[in-house]
Amino acid sequence: MLVIFVGGQIFEILHRDGLGRIGKLTTAHGKVTTPTLMPVIDPSNVIMTPTEIRQEVGAELMMTNAYLIKKRYGGEAVENGVHGILGYNGPIMTDSGGYQILRYGSVETSPEDIVRYQDAISPDIATILDVPTGAHTTRKKAEETVQITTERAREAIRLRSNQRVMWCGPVQGGLFCDLVAKSAREIGKLDYHIHAIGSPVELLEEYRYAELVDLVMTAKQNLPLSRPIHLFGAGHPMMLALAVAMGCDLFDSAAYVLYAREGRYLTPEGTFHLEKLSYFPCECPVCVKNSPEKVRELSEEKRVRFLATHNLHVTFGELRRIRESIIEGKLWEHVQVRCRSHPLLLEGFRRLLRYSSFIERFDPVTKKSAFYYSGGESAMRPEVLRHSRRLEERYSPPPLPVLAILPAFDRERPKLPEPERTHLVRVIPPFGAIPEELDEVYPLGQLQVPKELDPEQIRTAAESIRHFLQLHGTHYERVLLFNDGKRWGDMLIKACASVAEKLEIIEL
Ligand SMILES: [Zn+2]
Repeated sequence: MLVIFVGGQIFEILHRDGLGRIGKLTTAHGKVTTPTLMPVIDPSNVIMTPTEIRQEVGAELMMTNAYLIKKRYGGEAVENGVHGILGYNGPIMTDSGGYQILRYGSVETSPEDIVRYQDAISPDIATILDVPTGAHTTRKKAEETVQITTERAREAIRLRSNQRVMWCGPVQGGLFCDLVAKSAREIGKLDYHIHAIGSPVELLEEYRYAELVDLVMTAKQNLPLSRPIHLFGAGHPMMLALAVAMGCDLFDSAAYVLYAREGRYLTPEGTFHLEKLSYFPCECPVCVKNSPEKVRELSEEKRVRFLATHNLHVTFGELRRIRESIIEGKLWEHVQVRCRSHPLLLEGFRRLLRYSSFIERFDPVTKKSAFYYSGGESAMRPEVLRHSRRLEERYSPPPLPVLAILPAFDRERPKLPEPERTHLVRVIPPFGAIPEELDEVYPLGQLQVPKELDPEQIRTAAESIRHFLQLHGTHYERVLLFNDGKRWGDMLIKACASVAEKLEIIEL
């Protein structure tokens, strides 16, 4: 198949949920469904071949390192192409040595040579030689990495000659958000097909998920949303859902095999050690036929292969769950569950909530599934923010003189003193004020909310009704508040009394 990438649509978004999306990426060696993981292949030390990985877990896109290929295979790879070296006729992405710069300080090639070399070995996606900022650097150094990476990105465009190759332009800046924003804006203006978020590796290794969220979200807000985003070095199934919820599409994993060599067993709930396991907490085809005891007795080669196979299965299983949750409109719930597996992951998720109003702009207005409240973070979901914004910007109440505020989950109308002249507004946490005439609009008509309230539900509900009265309270001659005596009644009375001058409280 000949695919030439000149301005055509190479990335098609099929489904969205928040910033999470399912896409089709067209490469010279076939289409790739995203979000996906690229297993990293080191051709000089193959545990499983790309074809075996594809057959075993359905991986479509492989990743290998052009710098290491150049060092080891040189002209042989130019002659046979990277597909010949890997023995794989599907899509391949190459990295260019940026990771080696981060680890060892330098590489034995020039940015120009590695661009030309990648054009010559013709991967489906190639990467410029960027300079990673890392997570342990001074501002001055970080500024330099951004500047040099941007210059190299510009220069690479001039050098590129193979139109079958798509190019990835990495964003740098590390922990300095203003630099990340600048880097993303500048590289986003250039002719690149894909962008990578550089420098997350140390943050991932050190479980610094909150800082990772700031890095990714800053880049995401400043990059073209239509281009796929690759999060370097992120291949642990535990954090994939969070990364997809930030709008990342591509991940790479050397971890499946590196962890396997150390006896480490990946799961979406965290990492276990083979030595310590009594049972395999997994339903993948290799685990159901084995026990930790049996696997511990295997030769080293077979044991590593077993663990690598399981690690891949569990990662691709998690990707399928994430994709399905996007289609169902349940990505948020899925992230909430996954982020419960480690306190620092939960911290990362809570940091993501700070970006809810940005995410809300891309969240579909209706979804297949009902809104399930699943903990305090649900109060910051895009749907809740959208409801409050719409009440503020688009809503005006019907011309009735009496307002009745009812803290209620049921749809029954209470006995009202002047039913014909009364506008009823229910208060349902965490959405808060829900005018009666809107209660069938998505997601208000399909709420699944626990009636035992948590502080976030009460806080957002009280804030919402207070705000409603501030905006519309003067329309009414009378404001009635039904108090059902539940523990949040006082909060509502306080919130309403702070803005409604003549509040009449009716005990239910
Ligand atoms: Zn397994």
